[in-house]
Amino acid sequence: MATIKQERKKINKLIKRDNRNNQTIDRFYQQALSIIGNHLHEFYNEYADENGLTLNQVSQNVNSWDIQEFYQAINEMLADVSPDDKLSQRLQAIYAQASISRRDMLGALIGAGMSIATARSESFAVNELKQQYIDGYEDFSPRKLATVPAKVAKQTEYSQRVWVHGDVMTTRMKETLNKGLSRGMGQADINKMTRSIPQSGDRIDGNLATPMNQMLSRIHTLTIDEGANNSNKGKSKAYEEQNVKYVMWLTQEDDHVCDICEPLDRQIFPYGEAPIPIADTHPRCRCQLVACDENGILLKGQTDEVLQD
Ligand SMILES: [Zn+2]
Repeated sequence: MATIKQERKKINKLIKRDNRNNQTIDRFYQQALSIIGNHLHEFYNEYADENGLTLNQVSQNVNSWDIQEFYQAINEMLADVSPDDKLSQRLQAIYAQASISRRDMLGALIGAGMSIATARSESFAVNELKQQYIDGYEDFSPRKLATVPAKVAKQTEYSQRVWVHGDVMTTRMKETLNKGLSRGMGQADINKMTRSIPQSGDRIDGNLATPMNQMLSRIHTLTIDEGANNSNKGKSKAYEEQNVKYVMWLTQEDDHVCDICEPLDRQIFPYGEAPIPIADTHPRCRCQLVACDENGILLKGQTDEVLQD
């Protein structure tokens, strides 16, 4: 027999895992933005005069210094990355854009940095989502999972969505850049534009981290929800194989439980007839359906021993 307390510990472990995953993803974007910021300062120092950096100045054709500076930034951003075909193709298009004018090149710097960060996040998360499926399965099944379904291995929908969020992020950051450049930028403006802000931090006008962090919040939700979907699918496969007949809905039973989930807490459903967390509740729902018998006695999973109080 398992206890509700043990099941709640498992939910807490999943939440911590989500937080760690999102911190990893944030780091990819923060690293890219920090390199972008350093190079924006380099451009500023090279071209600003007593009026700061003017629109006229950044509208000039690129010269060999610009090109060298641009590729230097790209090399820094690609230091730990071996681009796959999709990223290489995107970077080629971005390099073409960078050759038009200095302003295009600065926009391309943002595009390249965010594309590299998105590619790194995608690759990290696809692997992680697959592992969540495996862990969901092995939590209840006595067997190990040798292979996963192709859909779980590929995570196509996650990949498509994370790239859309990444592209919206790039567009909004370029808008922030262009607004600044069209007004002309002094030292205080460039400092404000490149100031680093944690994902949960303040939102500031004229700051590149602000639209990045707004879209990171969407990427967090996407990653949390897909993590839960994968872990639940793995668990369902184990439940079906083990012929589970009933499941109990469990919330975290703390102050954060929402009005949708609260009345479901500890309700027992025949397997297959229960609402589905997230799909039938809300984004970022971490409620769990756990195997039980018709009297609500929870069935013992495989990892429960290590969680024994
Ligand atoms: Zn919930």
